[in-house]
Amino acid sequence: MKKELGIFTFKDLLEHYPLRHLDKTKVDKIKELNYTSDYTQVAGKLLHSEILGEKQAKRLVAYLQDGTGEIELTWFQGINSVQRILESGQQYLVFGKVTFFNNKVQMVHPELEIYTPEKATGKSFLDPIYPCTEKLKVRGLNGRSIAKLTYGLLQLLTPKDLPENLPESIVKQYRFISRWDASCHIHFPSSEEMHSHAVRRIKFEELFFAQLRLGFRRSERHRFSHGFTFDKVGSRFNGFYENYLPFELTNAQKKVLKEIRKDVGSGRQMNRLLQGDVGSGKTIVALLSMLIAMDNERQEDGQHFQSVLMAPTEILAQQHFNSLESLLKEMPVCVKLLTGSSKGKERKETLKGCEDGSVNILIGTHAVIEEKVVFKNLGFAVVDEQHKFGVAQRAALWKKNVLPPHILVMTATPIPRTLALTAYGDLDYSVIDELPPGRQPIHTIHRFENKRPQVMDFVKEEIAKGRQAYIVYPLIEESSKMDYENLMKGYEEIKSFFPEPKYWISMVHGRQPSDQKDTNMQRFVKNDTQIMVSTTVIEVGVNVPNASLMVIESAEKFGLSQLHQLRGRVGRGSEKSFCILLTGLKVSKDARERLNIMCATNDGFKIAEKDLEIRGPGDIEGTRQSGLLNFKLASIVQDRVMLEVAKDMVNNILDNDPDLTMAENLPVKNHLKLQQGKTVWSKIS
Ligand code: ADP
Ligand code: MG
Repeated sequence: MKKELGIFTFKDLLEHYPLRHLDKTKVDKIKELNYTSDYTQVAGKLLHSEILGEKQAKRLVAYLQDGTGEIELTWFQGINSVQRILESGQQYLVFGKVTFFNNKVQMVHPELEIYTPEKATGKSFLDPIYPCTEKLKVRGLNGRSIAKLTYGLLQLLTPKDLPENLPESIVKQYRFISRWDASCHIHFPSSEEMHSHAVRRIKFEELFFAQLRLGFRRSERHRFSHGFTFDKVGSRFNGFYENYLPFELTNAQKKVLKEIRKDVGSGRQMNRLLQGDVGSGKTIVALLSMLIAMDNERQEDGQHFQSVLMAPTEILAQQHFNSLESLLKEMPVCVKLLTGSSKGKERKETLKGCEDGSVNILIGTHAVIEEKVVFKNLGFAVVDEQHKFGVAQRAALWKKNVLPPHILVMTATPIPRTLALTAYGDLDYSVIDELPPGRQPIHTIHRFENKRPQVMDFVKEEIAKGRQAYIVYPLIEESSKMDYENLMKGYEEIKSFFPEPKYWISMVHGRQPSDQKDTNMQRFVKNDTQIMVSTTVIEVGVNVPNASLMVIESAEKFGLSQLHQLRGRVGRGSEKSFCILLTGLKVSKDARERLNIMCATNDGFKIAEKDLEIRGPGDIEGTRQSGLLNFKLASIVQDRVMLEVAKDMVNNILDNDPDLTMAENLPVKNHLKLQQGKTVWSKIS
């Protein structure tokens, strides 16, 4: 039971909730079972049983007849023990999942007991059905025995063992049933209504305590995590802002900058997640923040604070470097690039500059967090496109100075608010929810591959107008040979559509050496090539405003957020932009839904919400291991309203009573203590 279901304690058992309930007073007629019958109970006489097949196929088959029809009961495992209790001529009550084999109705590994008519009119008319594994069933521990154990456990306990754990005001306001009642009725409800009360209460508890744990972490960080105080805004920031900022900041950018300034001036370490759709202008916010860092110095030695910006790929790091270097070229700011391919003298000098403090801003890939990279006075770190980085990598940054640097994590993968609240609830959170002015919406269309020639003609027309185009191939697995061959085949085809010297083509993929990647990329950036054939390495960040057209091959193979990321490479200039989703002729229902959403909206947050709905939270990048999403009953998709309520409640409580010392919050505090070990459960185990 331990290993199989993760049940170690009585508490686990109590929280092993039924999958559903079945009205077990109801016995179905065998004749009426059909393909839509799910878990069902039948009763009848056992005709006979026999062993069929050999080795792997060896099975025990028993035939049960109820006067309306016959059903086959099959066991592949535990044959001997089942055989011992089967008796021809005996009446049995049988419960299991109805399946069909060779058109005959059957149940595999059903639960069975000797039938006495009163069995069919049990007390609780809603019997719980528990998740169970085949292995346990074979050992004799089936759903029915779990029900018995749970029932027995509830008999042992009293309401005092499950004291209220929510503040009274919340219980009253939301009319929750008591915790004790919820535990009883979630397993053995007296009615449908009581069951739904129990579900509602338990879901709320799950969301509430998850938010509370995150809230604690956040509020402790606010109270106890010391950080460098950047209280000055000086000549670097102002000089740049007044003289070299190439555009007016959007209101959203200004708002976020204010939030960051407030954080870094507070004396505690900033840990902020910045979300903004592709093209919303996160980079400039990062740059301005790094200039604030540089405007401040360490008291002891007057050493200016240094900043580091980490990007997930070399191409991106290079691009950030190029754009920052050109933005800052008139400013007394030293910017250096460090990636895996920085070699020799240049690398040495960069490392030396970081160590002696002369490098003000270091840009790079995860090369920058290696131990060899030592800073004189690191004060600010920007992590771009955070989902590609793990927690461990962020933690490595903390060791590079006496206090951890302020951290700004930027992501262009819009995360639905509910998910952000849950998965990143311990970070502070900013959003750029506005695009720079003058952006034209990207026109997205879906075409089947039999229209490829027309699509390519369209690409030619756009190129004739001076535009550039991306053609993207799915290379889901960087190592997959087939994906790679598809790309090469595609490339050859594109070359035949777009012959040199009229057209020039760049190609970029993950298997190229980085200098080759760079050269190809740079040729496209400089408009020496009109077409960029690539894999998803192009996904993040790359900025070529003149590229206004993207064709995505086999678009049905991409997930929603990836499609959105890819599409974000176009629509960066003032020209009207297009994204054409090419697919095979056969497209699954899910894929079609994704394509429709892409064609319908450019709004990354809407897309993210849909993505969450379609895929569920488990698959959203970066959240898989968070563990915070493993609720037993609650779902952040279906219960998002409740999640928001729980979050507000928690904030309210922690704002007024961060240590939970007020009488009103004692139930909460006691519950948290109980959860940490010294529990009532040890008393009875
Ligand atoms: P992302 O948020 O995807 O990283 P970038 O920071 O790369 O977006 O910005 C996308 C483009 O928008 C860049 O070319 C940038 O110079 C431009 N940009 C950013 N902010 C503004 C603004 N306030 N007004 C006009 N253009 C802007
Ligand atoms: Mg970016």
